[in-house]
Amino acid sequence: MITYFPEVYPDELLYSQLARCYVKAGYPAYIYMAEDFFQDKKVRPDIEFINTLTPAALQIVTKNKTIEDIVLKHTMFPYYGCFISKERRNKAYQALIGMRGNYNNLLPKVKSCQERFLRYCPLCVKADRDKFGETFWHRNHQITGINVCPIHRCYLKNSEVVISAKASPILHHAEGVIPQKDNVEIVKDDIEYEVSEYVAAVFQSDLDMDSDIGVGEFLHSCMIGTRYLSARGKKRYMELLHEDFISYYEKLSENRITELWQLQKIFTNDRSNFVDVCLLAYFLKVPVDDLVNMKVPDVPQDEIFDAEIKRLHDKGLKYPEIAKRLGMSYDSVKTIGNGRYGIYQHRKENPQKGGVRVKDWTKLDDEYLLLVQKAIQRIENDESSMPKKITVIGIGRDVGLPEGSLRKMPKCKAEINNHSISQEQLWAKKVVWAVKKIQTEGQPLNWKQIRNLTNMRNENFQECKPYLEMYMDAEMAERIKELL
Ligand SMILES: [Zn+2]
Repeated sequence: MITYFPEVYPDELLYSQLARCYVKAGYPAYIYMAEDFFQDKKVRPDIEFINTLTPAALQIVTKNKTIEDIVLKHTMFPYYGCFISKERRNKAYQALIGMRGNYNNLLPKVKSCQERFLRYCPLCVKADRDKFGETFWHRNHQITGINVCPIHRCYLKNSEVVISAKASPILHHAEGVIPQKDNVEIVKDDIEYEVSEYVAAVFQSDLDMDSDIGVGEFLHSCMIGTRYLSARGKKRYMELLHEDFISYYEKLSENRITELWQLQKIFTNDRSNFVDVCLLAYFLKVPVDDLVNMKVPDVPQDEIFDAEIKRLHDKGLKYPEIAKRLGMSYDSVKTIGNGRYGIYQHRKENPQKGGVRVKDWTKLDDEYLLLVQKAIQRIENDESSMPKKITVIGIGRDVGLPEGSLRKMPKCKAEINNHSISQEQLWAKKVVWAVKKIQTEGQPLNWKQIRNLTNMRNENFQECKPYLEMYMDAEMAERIKELL
């Protein structure tokens, strides 16, 4: 008989809740717990999903939450089901809420060459222990392909619990497995950290069960207006995209997409892995809300574009002028204007011919200078997020220039270099930003608060002290220096 079942913690795996129950309810052996909870007492408890529960267990597990909520918020279903087709997603969902084991055939398998373990973040563990007196298995930490805690910016750690179809049936509760003390390794690469935040935000969003838009079509439409798609929105410049994608993510500790065909498969809806899709979406600067509520334009881009050429032509503009305005070649504009597009298609939609001529670096340098200045200003004045370094790569990406272009544009490059700062200065700026935030929120000003907001270590703080006065008044700087 089931006498006890603990409340679930936010983002806790159902498996973790069951494991806590097993330890706390005082079962003399696991088999008694299994008899109470699982229809088949010999079943291996499913770490990521849900086993068939006994009627009594189902009743107690769903006392405060519906089975639907449990599947969506306490299993890994959103990770596996988010970007697959509507039909497949709903079949798997129904199988899960009906606790039928066949969901495994309905959800995509995530291949991993290494053995998988239940993972944890040492700082989340500490926070759980401070707050709840125990820790638990978080869903956020089990996203294959992401190795960073989105809250604490440190690397996740493997526990000794293997996620395997061969493991013997038992429930491992986090508190009993995770050590009391652990070293913490902060992630250096900003992109790796930001991606983990992005992926977690998508994962935690409400899953749109009714969406029948393919993620491939959606991401294709997100490239409208970028250099990865022809002006008429028909042709993808995959080599360019692949090259930029690889170099953007080169420092990630794990990136399963290295080949062009792998990216191509996302666009054809043949690759729907959660993290792969998120990496591409993040690279294309797709906001989280847009990715979880996917919509595609009602009118195809080529129609909009062709109509725009016609509109400008009707207004009396000549084709050379229209071509200049739309950044296309004269030939393409004229052909479209004359309604003959398609006949000479092989000659058009070439990124080297349309738009600005690649070799005209001096002209490009002048044209982009103002954009570069604006981008720098925007980053420097952005008080809503933690200060970032101004870098050639970052600004290039911000203004939409191909990787490496800025190196050939001396004026823009000089402007960026004038605004670059040392690591110690960046830390000082981060401290100033954190202090302002703490004060605005009326929180007590102490080192712990600053550390939590900036993830800086004591050494970083000591090293940045000489620079604090560059960014705040001397009196305040003195006060801050005395905090640690
Ligand atoms: Zn954490």
